Amino acid sequence: MKALCWNGINDLKVERVPDPYILNEGDAVVRLTMSSVCGSDLHLLDGYVPTMKAGDIIGHEFMGEVIEVGPGVKKLKRGDRVVVGSVLGCGSCEFCQSDQWSLCDNSNPNPEILEKAYGYAGAGIFGYSHAFGGYAGSHAEYIRVPYADHGAFKVPEGVKDEAAVFTSDAFPTGYMAADMCGIERGDTVVVWGAGGVGQMAMQSAYLLGAERVIAIDRYGDRLAKAKQYAKAEVLNYEEVDILEALKEMTGGRGPDRCIDAVGMEAHTTGMEQYYDKAKQTLRLQTDRPAVLRQAIMACRKGGTVSIVGVYGGLLDKFPMGAAMNKALTLRMGQMFAQKYIPKLLERVAAGEVDPSYMLTHKWTLDQGPEGYRMFKEKTDNCMRVVFTPSQ
Ligand SMILES: [Zn+2]
Ligand SMILES: [Zn+2]
Repeated sequence: MKALCWNGINDLKVERVPDPYILNEGDAVVRLTMSSVCGSDLHLLDGYVPTMKAGDIIGHEFMGEVIEVGPGVKKLKRGDRVVVGSVLGCGSCEFCQSDQWSLCDNSNPNPEILEKAYGYAGAGIFGYSHAFGGYAGSHAEYIRVPYADHGAFKVPEGVKDEAAVFTSDAFPTGYMAADMCGIERGDTVVVWGAGGVGQMAMQSAYLLGAERVIAIDRYGDRLAKAKQYAKAEVLNYEEVDILEALKEMTGGRGPDRCIDAVGMEAHTTGMEQYYDKAKQTLRLQTDRPAVLRQAIMACRKGGTVSIVGVYGGLLDKFPMGAAMNKALTLRMGQMFAQKYIPKLLERVAAGEVDPSYMLTHKWTLDQGPEGYRMFKEKTDNCMRVVFTPSQ
């Protein structure tokens, strides 16, 4: 089959690779109809996620048609139209049983790598390096889906592919960001990053009772979409001082809940950007925490900072004093796909949220390298490029 493979930093190629097959009894093989790019893929392209190997297939937000199931699969059959969560969970360990699927004890066959880095390893993730299990990703014609009964969900009739595909990753991640905030009626929620996950976090904040949502980014088209579709007030951090603006907008009190939907490659302005970029380049810090610093500083006393932007390693100049002395709650994690996807599919089917506006470019798999270039450089108002491998 054809697949989009990582070959090194900023080096993607469409290659011929062997077709996947049923390896374990709980596997399914899915023919991919849609596979989206995600902001966290850019960390792979930029070389900030170690343990990638030349030839690895990337991509983790996807949907398709089941073409084969292993003998242990009970809920799915050939021909089912499914969306698959980006994070793998076995369904039977204590973490999966308590709905904390990204902490699964069994779905990462290479735990020793993360055990060294983090103390304990979390779940495997499709197409996201050997540290996260070495699973082949979704930018391909076919994919093997382990633990298929737990991770693949039938798409309700009437939900179009363009909306369903984002319930794989962007929507559940954004929803979990809002859920972790512990939103109370009347709250003001600020979301840093108006990309796919940020847009979904904004809409989810309203679903969970927020009164007001404020979006921060530097791209006009993303802020315009945040305003139009997610009913957010918007701030461009290249034009205003974010801390001052947020203080002013909240009567001097500060926003109640702050969501970081950016992660380790945050951009900011002035000296801070040069400082972080230099330290990251020299490997004196692995991640650039400009957004996280801002969120902690901006948050009102006793508020919540919720982090779904991906971080990999170590941060510098982390304002721990502010977090401690303001009694902030910090919550974070890779998303619990299997916990949220069924509920979110229902919400999409009911017409409460339509994530399809995030799909700005629908391309063939052969256009993969070009699609990622565009997504990375954010040209042509690109928000999400979706590949259609079997069309
Ligand atoms: Zn993602
Ligand atoms: Zn598990």
